[in-house]
Amino acid sequence: MKNCIFCRIIAGEIPCTKVYEDELVLAFMDIAPINPGHILVIPKEHHTSVASIPENVGGRIFHVGSRAGVAMKRALHADGFNLHLSDGTCAGQVVMHAHLHVVPRSLEDGFHWNWRQLKYASDSERNAIAAQISEKIKLGELSE
Ligand code: 5GP
Ligand code: ZN
Repeated sequence: MKNCIFCRIIAGEIPCTKVYEDELVLAFMDIAPINPGHILVIPKEHHTSVASIPENVGGRIFHVGSRAGVAMKRALHADGFNLHLSDGTCAGQVVMHAHLHVVPRSLEDGFHWNWRQLKYASDSERNAIAAQISEKIKLGELSE
């Protein structure tokens, strides 16, 4: 995609600090990290949404992300790591080329997800919502 910043990074038109590359994915340093070492793993093919990424590519993104997380623990002495993906503007996606964030974490890094914990009104409300989602899950279907 011509005016996609991450496609332009893949094409070499915009520089990046590369961490890992293979035929399916590229991993590079995020320009504005949550913590030093924060990287992005992206598919080489343009996908706006993670939902249109084929299983083999999605599997590679997750595999590279988790191995990079382990590398952060070994190389940066991180205590752990977050894998994070925002899909859609309302979810916080700013760059419209699907990407997995890998963020090294330490006990003293002072960063906290703004993670709220609502309650369901009843078990049946929770079960009804679960059934609605379950009915619509179609493996093998790629969509935006
Ligand atoms: P999002 O909010 O879409 O999940 O995350 C986009 C991420 O891309 C942000 O963390 C931002 O810092 C990073 N980013 C945006 N533009 C560039 C760029 O030109 N180069 C690099 N390396 N990272 C970028
Ligand atoms: Zn793109």
